[in-house]
Amino acid sequence: MRESASWLAPGRVNLIGEHTDYNDGFVLPLAIEFGCRATVSPGPEGMLRFTSAQEPDPVEVPVADLAPGAVPGWAAYPAGVLWALGVDLPGLTVAVDSDVPLGAGLSSSAALTCSVGGAANDLLELGLSPRELVAATRKAENDFVGAPTGGMDQLASMLGEAGSVLFCDMRTLDVRPVPFGLDAEGLALLVVDSRAPHRHADGEYAARRRSCEQAASTLGLRALRDVVDLDEALAKLAAEPDGEVLVKRARHIVTENARVTDVVALLDAGKVREIGPALTASHASMRDDFEITVPEVDVLVEALLAAGAYGARMTGGGFGGCVIALLDQNAVDDAARAAVAAATAHGFATPRTFTTSPAAGAHSVGAHHAG
Ligand code: ADP
Ligand code: MG
Repeated sequence: MRESASWLAPGRVNLIGEHTDYNDGFVLPLAIEFGCRATVSPGPEGMLRFTSAQEPDPVEVPVADLAPGAVPGWAAYPAGVLWALGVDLPGLTVAVDSDVPLGAGLSSSAALTCSVGGAANDLLELGLSPRELVAATRKAENDFVGAPTGGMDQLASMLGEAGSVLFCDMRTLDVRPVPFGLDAEGLALLVVDSRAPHRHADGEYAARRRSCEQAASTLGLRALRDVVDLDEALAKLAAEPDGEVLVKRARHIVTENARVTDVVALLDAGKVREIGPALTASHASMRDDFEITVPEVDVLVEALLAAGAYGARMTGGGFGGCVIALLDQNAVDDAARAAVAAATAHGFATPRTFTTSPAAGAHSVGAHHAG
């Protein structure tokens, strides 16, 4: 066996397409410049040892004990990846170090699982394809950690490409890189992390999933992705006992899917600036229909639009997290300042701001061979 294998996997920002992933719909994420570096090497016989530069203490788990529920805390993510590989494991040491902000909606968890998956695949010479690694890392989060993510994060981290957003069909898992050339247009994508505490995010996420499933089954469809006539579907949902909620949830998903394909068409035509209104409409839909925003992010979106953004929206699952804005490069500094000032004026946490552009997906950053 090699002495070690190392992979770097990025976090992600979703340009548009929120909560559409578990509705068999469309998403359009990009891998970002922040990432997690994982090194996997042979460890003491029968033992798995996990360390993180972001955590004070190592976690040790006997290989024989590796099962869902057996690993507490953060180490469940890397342990879950090793479990999801589905092979007999030797003793291993896994060391990670990430500059993706944890829990900010930038998918530090996918950066962690994808870097560990890639490195373990190399060290153990399993020969899994990137798509098989996407499946294993998603299984790790869903079935080992118990985080019901819809699969976009792992696709973006594993298959993202520099210079492009990744158009993903979450039913077929087909992906297509779509050029997102910011520099050539004098544009920038500003990310503003609200640093708002996530409130009830898990329970609300589960509730949104349930509503979407209920709406689809009421309509006799496999998923809300399959709605053809929106008005007709909404009229049918409105007649249900909890019709008002179902109408709002379904309207967000159906219109959001349409916004994703609209944005893809604009980007394919090189009309980058013109995606702005779709981004802003996505935010309004998340705020009014899907009801997943909080005042902290609504205030940021308003401030960024007032500062000249072509479009702005919350990105990620909601109830906190980050806002993105498409801006002329020379407007970025003022817009970032305006966002911070608006948050401060409302007594909210001071946001953290940075610009990003599409970065490379997960890749090997080295293997060391014995001898
Ligand atoms: P997000 O993926 O949006 O950052 P999640 O709640 O899905 O938020 O994942 C965050 C969790 O992932 C953290 O609470 C921690 O358990 C784990 N995690 C991510 N990166 C690291 C890291 N570098 N070291 C330790 N744990 C990490
Ligand atoms: Mg995550």
